[in-house]
Amino acid sequence: MLDTVPNRPDLPPEIARRRTFAIISHPDAGKTTLTEKFLLYGGAIQMAGQVRAKGEARRTRSDYMQMEKDRGISVSASAMSFDFNDFRFNLVDTPGHSDFSEDTYRTLTAVDAAVMVIDGAKGVESQTQKLFEVCRLRDLPILTFCNKMDRESRDTFEIIDEIQEMLAIDVTPASWPIGVGRDFIGCYDMLRNRLELMDRADRNKVAESIKIDGLDDPKLADHVPANLIEKLREDVEMARELLPDLNPQSVLEGHMTPIWFGSAINSFGVKELMDGIGTYGPEPQPQSAEPRQISPEESKVSGFVFKVQANMDPKHRDRVAFVRMASGHFKRGMKLTHVRSKKPMTVSAPVLFLASDRELAEEAWAGDIIGIPNHGQLRIGDTLTEGESLRVTGIPSFAPELLQNCRAGDPMKAKHLEKALMQFAEEGAAKVFKPTMGAGFIVGVVGQLQFEVLGSRIELEYGLPVRFEPSQFTSARWVHGPKEAVEKFTNANKQHIALDNDGDTVYLTRLQWDIDRVERDYPEIKLSATKEMM
Ligand code: GDP
Repeated sequence: MLDTVPNRPDLPPEIARRRTFAIISHPDAGKTTLTEKFLLYGGAIQMAGQVRAKGEARRTRSDYMQMEKDRGISVSASAMSFDFNDFRFNLVDTPGHSDFSEDTYRTLTAVDAAVMVIDGAKGVESQTQKLFEVCRLRDLPILTFCNKMDRESRDTFEIIDEIQEMLAIDVTPASWPIGVGRDFIGCYDMLRNRLELMDRADRNKVAESIKIDGLDDPKLADHVPANLIEKLREDVEMARELLPDLNPQSVLEGHMTPIWFGSAINSFGVKELMDGIGTYGPEPQPQSAEPRQISPEESKVSGFVFKVQANMDPKHRDRVAFVRMASGHFKRGMKLTHVRSKKPMTVSAPVLFLASDRELAEEAWAGDIIGIPNHGQLRIGDTLTEGESLRVTGIPSFAPELLQNCRAGDPMKAKHLEKALMQFAEEGAAKVFKPTMGAGFIVGVVGQLQFEVLGSRIELEYGLPVRFEPSQFTSARWVHGPKEAVEKFTNANKQHIALDNDGDTVYLTRLQWDIDRVERDYPEIKLSATKEMM
């Protein structure tokens, strides 16, 4: 049986009721549709569909770019908060396209769990698998939603087997589908012995729940066609024999995922999933930091920046730093310490992301995501505290895999271009390298599509047409070592040296051979493909 008591009664209730999570999926599996239904049941909006509609009208939502509309991809992450039953959900949206893996990685540092959405006809797809691996690096608990069950889908055992094998995680069915494709009528709730029946006529109607007394209850025949009852009984019996029982501890440790079957577009199975996130998803977790870990229940407030987004509102050149609260009870107007600069910062206009609009946040608890408008002081990886010198760890920056020279269409606009590029670099949307010899900039990204996004954003937001051209370099490595050794090395390799957007020294090359040579010839120098953001 489900119990609605928070997993951790020792936490302050406001923290214990928070669930901060992201959705991971392959494009087209139904993430957007599911998000809309979450918001609908969260009471955040009146009607599903408004997430998109409003975004288009106001251009302040994550889907505001023309390119996103054209390509149907969501480029930038945003956060949404809503209440459901006793819980406060914070849903952090992850960019869907594989080219944005670094951004996605950082987004996942801000959540305590992930909902994995798969298409019932397609099973585990490539992008699902990649994102799952990222979650696994942090042992994030995963809850699975198998979507589009109203369509012809694969055999239930086959889907479960595929997840177990491809992702090496135990799968336990929280519900069991009844009928396939056009004959799909709903699910048997394995945790509560209930029938959940789907209403095909009204897509926004919540499924009807019918309490039954196990699968031998004669009431079953009133709702389920005879040919489906037999199959259901057999399947459930076999599932109970072959598949592991739900073990909440194992779910929290990331070793087991409960799976719900449903149809997001028909609002079916969504509430059960939400119940599951509340019941089995973790409350806000401790945050690794130097020199000590931060616990959510600490009375002092702390948080860290995991994302910076510029120009959310094209009319104002503002930047919003997305901050995951790591501890305490934040109140608007609080003075916090920006640990990197050791400067105080009064947070007077923090923003909460309530469904499709931004709203001023009066308070926030550990687990919440708030936006802090600023003029560039806040960077990804920054920690805010009430004075203690803590630095949240584990938010890496990856060496870009693709490098291109970037030029302004109008050579007189080079300074403007620098400003624009630096702003995107702060967002973490690209790395910008300024070679020590020669003019111009080299821009590094993880995936090709990012160049196009950058190009169209620079044009849209700065009115500055730009060109990307092939660079002679293909790899970038951060240079570490004792000061003198670094100087000697950079002086001898000037044509390969650049400064990144934080002013750190980088070695650019096109050959792995060069990297090996440096490590052989300069034993004191270390070249690394990642650096911690700070
Ligand atoms: P995303 O790319 O993961 O965000 O996927 P979307 O939510 O945009 O959904 C992709 C397509 O699948 C859209 O055309 C949706 O209308 C459709 N879709 C989503 N959920 C369901 C479902 O439960 N059943 C069916 N048949 N189609 C669905």
